[in-house]
Amino acid sequence: MLSGLVLAWVTTPTISWPTALVFTLCGLTHAELARYEAPRSAQPVDTPRVSVVAVWVVGSVLTLHLAAVLMVSAVLHAHDLLRGPDPGRSGRVLASVGGATLAWLVWSTVNSSSSAPVEVTSTSTVLAAGLTGLLCLFVADGPASLRVAGRPISAVHPGEGSPGVYGQFVARTALGVLLGLFAHFSVFAIPFILLPVAYLQRSMRGRALHHAAAHDAKTQLWNHAAWQQLSTAALASHRTHARSAVLMVDLDHFKRLNDTFGHHAGDDVLTSVAHVLQTTTRRHDIVARFGGEEFSILLPGVTEGEANDAAERIRHQIEALAVITTNLHGRPTTISGITASIGVATTHHAEADANVDDLLVTADRCLYQAKELGRNRVCGPTLAAVA
Ligand code: GH3
Ligand code: MG
Ligand code: MG
Repeated sequence: MLSGLVLAWVTTPTISWPTALVFTLCGLTHAELARYEAPRSAQPVDTPRVSVVAVWVVGSVLTLHLAAVLMVSAVLHAHDLLRGPDPGRSGRVLASVGGATLAWLVWSTVNSSSSAPVEVTSTSTVLAAGLTGLLCLFVADGPASLRVAGRPISAVHPGEGSPGVYGQFVARTALGVLLGLFAHFSVFAIPFILLPVAYLQRSMRGRALHHAAAHDAKTQLWNHAAWQQLSTAALASHRTHARSAVLMVDLDHFKRLNDTFGHHAGDDVLTSVAHVLQTTTRRHDIVARFGGEEFSILLPGVTEGEANDAAERIRHQIEALAVITTNLHGRPTTISGITASIGVATTHHAEADANVDDLLVTADRCLYQAKELGRNRVCGPTLAAVA
């Protein structure tokens, strides 16, 4: 029974081993060209993984018998593990092989009524190919993609990665399905897909670099340069019909926290505070890490009272944090009692043509006032300090 199954896997549908060789050679050629264009050392370390191996795997699922699919998948993933942009993720290989096997079983079941080789002539076959491709990629990449798309920051402020993750997912599936359909017509059509695959990879890398250039690597908030650019545009669009505010947030006695628990624990606190800032602000508020343990936030279209309320909400949420981390000795520890001082500047008290830098200077001055008054409080130009 087992030998019959193995024989079926090696000999059923559709196209032969030389086609598998063409798939493998094209996949390897593309991977090496991509590597030449952007060596591993040039990849931004904190950007999502950029790999299009799945395109070749989906194409082979739709074209080859299972043994050949596994061969293509194993060779391309082994190459990716050894020479790809993000080596050492063997779990992904297992997921990919599992996805390919499951998708192949579905595809061969769907096509079991037709005679081999599969004739890609009907709309339903093309639809089935699309669904097979989606299944293959979902099992292989779905959990990792959802993790990236579901990161708290991108979930709260979309436009920061989720559409990119989903778009890349669909684009890789579409190219894999096209590849599979092409290959049914002629083995010589397979290399034609090299060019769009190369463009897809280049656009994915461009997006990753763009993200890295505008974000703080530790907290995934906007960096200061991006904040200034976005805030200037937001301020200009709200100037005519509404007021805006800038908050400057500085964690209290953060050096002492580092000295007590270590810098690793300090980093975990920074990440948790960043999450608080994202979740307590609105979708169109612009939150950045100014530097060190300081954060800047633009609140477009708010009254002075609303800006003060937002600052108070942030202060309370930070105070309520309990960050689970490890201490200097590597032991689990929970840090609580984190506090922040916040300076508020609003356009109500600024010159009519005040820019974000002017507001930032005012917010900074108010922040120092909050520190002088004893920390863990909000200060604004006309607001009494609130303990
Ligand atoms: P204050 O209440 O007056 O703001 O005191 P403070 O200790 O928070 O301020 P100070 O400017 O004296 O120290 C800031 C500390 O923030 C010192 C620095 O080591 C720490 N820091 C800056 N960037 C990072 C970072 O990325 N990670 C960690 N763990 N610490 C950082
Ligand atoms: Mg500081
Ligand atoms: Mg501080």
